[in-house]
Amino acid sequence: MKYYSLNHNAPNVSFEEAVIKGLASDKGLYFPESIKPLPKGFFENIENLSNEEIAFAAIEQFVGDEIPKEKLKEIITETLCFDFPVVPVEKGIYSLELFHGPTMAFKDVGARFMSRCLGYFNRDKKDSKNTVLVATSGDTGGAVASGFLGVKGVEVIILYPSGKVSDIQEKQLTTLGQNIIALEIDGMFDDCQDMVKKAFLDESLNHKGLTSANSINIARWLPQMFYFFFAYKALKHHNKKLIFSCPSGNFGNICAGIIAKKMGLPIHHFVASTNVNDAVPRFLVNGLYEPKASIATISNAMDVGNPSNFIRIQEMYNNDLEQFKKDFSSYSFTDAETTVAMKHIYGLNGYVAEPHGAVGYLGLKKELESHENTIGIFLETAHPIKFLDVVEPALNITLPIPAQIEAVMHEKKVSTKIKTYDELKAFLG
Ligand SMILES: *Cc1c(COP(=O)(O)O)cnc(C)c1O
Repeated sequence: MKYYSLNHNAPNVSFEEAVIKGLASDKGLYFPESIKPLPKGFFENIENLSNEEIAFAAIEQFVGDEIPKEKLKEIITETLCFDFPVVPVEKGIYSLELFHGPTMAFKDVGARFMSRCLGYFNRDKKDSKNTVLVATSGDTGGAVASGFLGVKGVEVIILYPSGKVSDIQEKQLTTLGQNIIALEIDGMFDDCQDMVKKAFLDESLNHKGLTSANSINIARWLPQMFYFFFAYKALKHHNKKLIFSCPSGNFGNICAGIIAKKMGLPIHHFVASTNVNDAVPRFLVNGLYEPKASIATISNAMDVGNPSNFIRIQEMYNNDLEQFKKDFSSYSFTDAETTVAMKHIYGLNGYVAEPHGAVGYLGLKKELESHENTIGIFLETAHPIKFLDVVEPALNITLPIPAQIEAVMHEKKVSTKIKTYDELKAFLG
């Protein structure tokens, strides 16, 4: 499979090159040249397939022959080492829980898949290595650190804002050691992000083989399509139309869902649910895409003013707003509404939703007002423990600490404090 740049001013590249580079030389995002529908028989028979078989069938065309089949199967098995339960929350509404991975964030799947692809591409390289540079506001960093731990030929440098991530998140970033390095930035998340962007544009760092591990990278973005197939498998026997609501920040997850639909997965409608960072909901109202600086909210993994994957979504709809609106809605919600929703969901049957999932629930409820005889699914993208400072006071409960979090809380934090881009550059060497 070849990938082209959405800025249309760079050569087409292989899967391998797209994964290694992250972004095209014209700074465009890579996009697959074609998306082939899967055979009808695949969907008819999906309930008899394992998650690994489903994932292999879904991703195979995007990797092509660049990773041998057996190796790709191995990568998928290692990626999907946990469950993706679909849990009933109220009549006709389900939570698709994506947080049962090692760091309890849905980004575990993308991070694990991407790291293993890079590891494979580095298999014969003796001296050279890739450096994954990533800025995190909290959740991404832990998943990337865990996903890339011990991967051959890859060094991971994570920039996080000092004092601005939760204790759990900080421990997940700073305690692993080996090929994972944490830089603690005296500043805000935006400062971390700016430093990373500057490093990618800095020609004097070209020799470092820098790449990103956010959903810009196709190997982190594409495997997220698996979730939608798994949910379909679980809910197919109801014989109802499915509506998915994704709590959205950079819109990578929902964009992967749209690819699944293009491959023939029967998804009736998508809802992109956001917090007050509402560039996409505003676009759907007036057709004008006007990104803004991000605003801090309680669902902070979605505090994105200019969602990086939105351009990929527009590409799939040929920039045709009317077609797009047939498949896709988008609504935004305030922190106050999100807290009310968390309480409401808890009141239904004791289900604990964290703020991102609650935003997803709100968008789903709004969309379901205009549909009948459908099933709605909202994606629960993080375990409530990751946002305990919001969840515990809102619901007036104390959450038990899961074993994989408990384990890391006892480890010793190791980080290097820096303040300026020059210090980062000196560090990179
Ligand atoms: C990253 C993240 C999101 C947003 O996902 P996108 O693919 O960027 O839209 C939502 N919830 C949580 C908990 C996240 O970490």
